Amino acid sequence: MLIRIIYLSTAVGPQTTTMTNAILKKAQAWNQAHGITGVLCQGQGVFLQALEGERGTVTQLYARIYADQRHTKVELLHCESIAKRRYENWSMAHVSLSDIDPATKIEWPEFDPYSVTGLQVMARIDDLLAKGSVIQSLDA
Ligand code: FAD
Repeated sequence: MLIRIIYLSTAVGPQTTTMTNAILKKAQAWNQAHGITGVLCQGQGVFLQALEGERGTVTQLYARIYADQRHTKVELLHCESIAKRRYENWSMAHVSLSDIDPATKIEWPEFDPYSVTGLQVMARIDDLLAKGSVIQSLDA
């Protein structure tokens, strides 16, 4: 059975390129080998990640991610059974929510993902993907 989850977390330190690349390198390799697809949005001190795959695999991965000391305040925003993947093209797409991305700020001026629902977050992730905001993907 396939599921999709979306969670939100707060970075413990600065979201440097080094840290992001380390996470993405590990994520893309492991996810590809284990049938996980998804998107990692990162910036403005937060991570937003959508993960899709077999229920048991996603659950185990989420437990590992939850325990990762590079972030805190991990909150599950959304979990659903799915018939079809939404992010099937990416083992882990990377979308920047950086302060230097004016489009993100203008289109989501009240950016506070801790106060919105998982479905609202998923809609925003889809907007960013539709606008071609993916900045890194091993699958591209
Ligand atoms: P190990 O690699 O043994 O790491 C154990 C702990 O050491 C980690 O929990 C972390 O606290 C710390 N650590 C590991 N590497 C570093 C580093 N380079 N710098 C600083 N501290 C470090 N993994 C995936 O496979 N798929 C994903 O989609 C995915 N998404 C992630 C999203 C976020 C926001 C974060 C923070 C991590 C993500 N990870 C992902 C990484 C995941 O949390 C685990 O580190 C990874 O799955 C390896 O698990 P492990 O038990 O072998 O940990």
